[in-house]
Amino acid sequence: MEVHNVDLTISAVDPKQYPSTNYPEIALVGRSNVGKSSLTNVLINRRNFAHTSSQPGKTQTLNFYEVEHQMYFIDVPGYGYAKVSKKERERFGQMIEEYLTTRQQLRGVIELVDGRHKPSDDDISMYQWLRYYNIPTLVVATKIDKVKPSALNRTINEVSRALELPSPDDLQLFSAVSKQGKDKIWQWIEQRMGK
Ligand code: GDP
Repeated sequence: MEVHNVDLTISAVDPKQYPSTNYPEIALVGRSNVGKSSLTNVLINRRNFAHTSSQPGKTQTLNFYEVEHQMYFIDVPGYGYAKVSKKERERFGQMIEEYLTTRQQLRGVIELVDGRHKPSDDDISMYQWLRYYNIPTLVVATKIDKVKPSALNRTINEVSRALELPSPDDLQLFSAVSKQGKDKIWQWIEQRMGK
């Protein structure tokens, strides 16, 4: 999709605030600092629309971005956010779980992992959880420009093995610097939207 039009529709702290339109939704999950805002900005052709974070883990809302009056990207805050109380984290975790398991409009989830490192335990748990609920998921390995070309196969193997990916198509390498992977990620999204 060639994107010209995008609005931050709502930053929701409560399900009552979710948009009531029936546009398909694609959620993005991943730990803080993995490159979620950077991926979002590349997908929507903006330099700094989704704010790249200097303070990891501060965002405590589900952010709905309306794209081309056709769909939403949902920025789901990074797991492993340290700065909030346990109680707040639990309450927020419940909101995310409820959104991911009950939202009718949700067509799929993009889980971001840092392409420079092995997936963390949190990355693995998140992926297992998404599979358990049968939520169609594309794994995107970010910051791939920082990985030597000769090490790319190792990255693919490590991520595939750690997450036990059912198919090689479930993983896409991505760089916000070179934009490598952008078209493939859009293809996956459009397929999930039934286009
Ligand atoms: P978020 O917390 O997941 O939204 O992560 P951000 O998008 O804010 O990115 C965190 C940091 O990683 C920032 O300093 C970005 O500039 C950097 N970053 C994100 N994506 C890439 C990438 O593909 N390549 C490189 N080299 N740096 C990246």
